[in-house]
Amino acid sequence: MNRNNNYFYSKFINLIYKIGEKMNIKKRVYTFGNKKAEGRTDMKNLLGGKGANLAEMNLVGIPVPPGFTITTEVCTEYNQKGKKEVIKLLKDEVNIGIEYIENVIGTKFGDKENPCLVSVRSGARVSMPGMMDTVLNLGLNDEVVEGIAKKTNNERLAWDSYRRFVQMYGDVVLGMKPASKEDIDPFEEIMESVKEKKGIKEDTEFSVDDLKDLVIKFKKAVKDVTGHDFPVDPWEQLWGAIIAVFDSWETERAIYYRKINGIPGDWGTAVNVQAMVFGNMGEDSATGVAFTRDAGTGEELFNGEYLINAQGEDVVAGTRTPQQITKEGSIRWAKLAIVSESERSEKYPSLEETMPEVYKELFETQKKLELHYKDMQDLEFTIQNKKLWLLQTRNGKRTGAAMVKIAMDMLDENLIDEKTSLLRVEPNRLDELLHPVFDEEAMENANVIAKGLPASPGAATGQIVFFADDAEKWSLDKKEVVLVRIETSPEDLKGMHVANGILTARGGMTSHAAVVARGMGKCCVSGAGSVKINYKTPTLTADGKVFKEGDWISLNGSTGEVYEGKIDTIDPKLSGNFDKLMKLTDKYAKMLVRTNADTPHDSQVARNFGAQGIGLCRTEHMFFEGDRIKAMREMILADDETGRRKALEKLLPIQRQDFEGIFEAMHDLPVTVRLLDPPLHEFVPHEEENQKDMADEMGVSVEEIKRKVENLAEFNPMLGHRGCRLGNTYPEITEMQARAIIEAALNLKEKGIKAVPEIMIPLTGSEKEYRMQEDIVRRIANTVFTERNDKIEYLVGTMIEIPRATLVADKIAETAEFFSFGTNDLTQMTFGYSRDDAGTFLPIYIEKGILKNDPFEVLDQTGVGQLVKIGIERGRSTNPKLKVGICGEHGGEPSSVEFFYSAGMNYVSCSPFRVPIARLAAAHAAIKED
Ligand code: PEP
Ligand code: MG
Repeated sequence: MNRNNNYFYSKFINLIYKIGEKMNIKKRVYTFGNKKAEGRTDMKNLLGGKGANLAEMNLVGIPVPPGFTITTEVCTEYNQKGKKEVIKLLKDEVNIGIEYIENVIGTKFGDKENPCLVSVRSGARVSMPGMMDTVLNLGLNDEVVEGIAKKTNNERLAWDSYRRFVQMYGDVVLGMKPASKEDIDPFEEIMESVKEKKGIKEDTEFSVDDLKDLVIKFKKAVKDVTGHDFPVDPWEQLWGAIIAVFDSWETERAIYYRKINGIPGDWGTAVNVQAMVFGNMGEDSATGVAFTRDAGTGEELFNGEYLINAQGEDVVAGTRTPQQITKEGSIRWAKLAIVSESERSEKYPSLEETMPEVYKELFETQKKLELHYKDMQDLEFTIQNKKLWLLQTRNGKRTGAAMVKIAMDMLDENLIDEKTSLLRVEPNRLDELLHPVFDEEAMENANVIAKGLPASPGAATGQIVFFADDAEKWSLDKKEVVLVRIETSPEDLKGMHVANGILTARGGMTSHAAVVARGMGKCCVSGAGSVKINYKTPTLTADGKVFKEGDWISLNGSTGEVYEGKIDTIDPKLSGNFDKLMKLTDKYAKMLVRTNADTPHDSQVARNFGAQGIGLCRTEHMFFEGDRIKAMREMILADDETGRRKALEKLLPIQRQDFEGIFEAMHDLPVTVRLLDPPLHEFVPHEEENQKDMADEMGVSVEEIKRKVENLAEFNPMLGHRGCRLGNTYPEITEMQARAIIEAALNLKEKGIKAVPEIMIPLTGSEKEYRMQEDIVRRIANTVFTERNDKIEYLVGTMIEIPRATLVADKIAETAEFFSFGTNDLTQMTFGYSRDDAGTFLPIYIEKGILKNDPFEVLDQTGVGQLVKIGIERGRSTNPKLKVGICGEHGGEPSSVEFFYSAGMNYVSCSPFRVPIARLAAAHAAIKED
């Protein structure tokens, strides 16, 4: 059947499915194999990512072992109806699925002479590496094993598969997997004792008799622990495994992974049942994983790892050091691992060298898959007696840098168009490109203690912890940690999440640690074989030195080097691809991105990142430095207006100079200067020593200062004397600030520099509050224009950050020229959560599912978002030209940026380092709208 026919077939099946749905007959199982499939790649929601791609690979003619997928909907049905009911619902279709496999490969499930073994794997809509369960070699029992031995003429393979099966089934289905890290897997314990008795090290050294002995011992362990015999009926085994995969959707680690990745719990997992192919059939068999491009750098370089005579879990488990697929990769690896060329080619040759024919086929297959999916693929394959089988393909996880490079390269290669290339880069991942690298000077004295694989780039420094739980505890105490483990497993996820970096002694570039760290964008060095880790002492021995828990180490995830001690880090340099991506965002984004900055330096940094103006200059931040604070305190502590004006006169030249610096840095671009906002008590001296200083400065007693400070104290300063309430009670402050802004702009005009000030009134709640401030600003501006006999353009507008302001926005906008939403305060006052104290209960609220996210980080579109929309709508109803932006922290958060665009804002404003993220999110918003 050609490709078109295949598609026709799959479409036909779907039509039947839809008709079935209408008639209330639900299709729950989709078969694939022999270049036919009932599913397709665009059916990920129903078949999971793995199932949909297994189907699709068949449709494009790639060799895939036959099998079937039980849909994700069944997982939800299972959670609602339970085991018995779901087995009843599935029975007939699973029977047909097994028959389909039997027919394609000509074997029989459970047959003693010609048996068929299957794998049972999970597969959610999006990949959740290592989070859910898998059972391989299912269908084996004491009789079937003999049949396999005879049929394959390979007794070792049969018994090796059997012992793996009993172990996996025991762990996954019968619940014998150790609950904590400290507990030992009972099967591993048995294997270790047999190895010790026989004086062998590797699993591959077990003889057939050893394996037979292991199976007996494993089955006895099962009986001892569970009280039941190991199930011998393949059908019982199959149902047990299917149900176990469904159960693994609800394990603690899967739930946690979903939480940190925002995956809804009701998606469920599909179950893929597939004919087994054996990578452990001898020296002409192998198993491996490969990437069509470099997942770390994005380089167009086919790469990956494989193991001869092994099964899939051996590669990811990190128990054997995998070899490279390509010769080039192998040579690169040897260089890093300090392995000579002769040792490399003898002990660790590449697949390209050991099986050139199969390598060629694999190379062509990966090209075909990349061209088909038009994205970097992450493949799993098995070679059975020199025959290549693909077990999985999916869009490969990659670092932020690789994400940008691959998107830009594929655009150059005409594989994807501009919009697709922009959508291929997740805005938040740009953070990684802006990640720290080691300070070169600090590196001069750095001492390398070990070298591992450069599993996930970036630099990290921290105190050693050996257990994920400790990483969590220490990080709660604000300690910087590096998680050091022999190898990681999904149980370590939380610890990995909070650690600055991860170091493992075992495992390759595709080990759990490497894959997960890359996904998290976290620095990781894996497989540093020369380090010895002892969990009991607990110590790390490297380069002859012993490091204890709490000692500092540093990791370079781009080179694989491990250093002793703490090494300072600095900001990274950006590549040409980054610039190219940013230019492209400007082509598609319709909303502008400004920055929140209060110094010329920050303004420049933001401008370099492409900020199109300043959306928020918090003037109070300018008062904390040097002598300014004294003049400021003098102004606050003054008894009357005369005293305040005296102090304000001292502040005027300082403010003017500060504004000149910022206007100059942002020349030609708008700068929103917000008038003084915080409560006054924040500025007054609270320590005895500073109070004495102030008393001397002002020529009054310390008691007098103390009394004034006490008078300024408020029970709830966030709702107290701040924002425009200050300017309205002490208009002279607004007068001074307005004068400083206008004079600074005029001074620059004289120098030929164009300043575009937008003067912003904070914390407006009523039109009267706003208008009183606006009048002062306009009056002062006119006075200065007359004094200087010159003019500049400027705007006056307001923050919208009090819920009431959104409701009376129409009245405020009658004269206001712009609104800038202060979503920090708006969130605070809408929820009634104190910005300063919410940390005590928000994490618990998120944990309990009361809130999905921290609303101070991700805008609450349902509640606060409604007020934003009301504010814009009402504001523009009286002033259609009203310019609207946002300057709360949400201005750099991608999902919030998309919301602000849809609400009709002209710009978002965020901290300098988030400007690129907001630019990309703004482009995404515009593209998605089309
Ligand atoms: C806000 O409230 O969103 C805002 C930007 O102002 P600040 O954080 O300074 O209160
Ligand atoms: Mg505010």
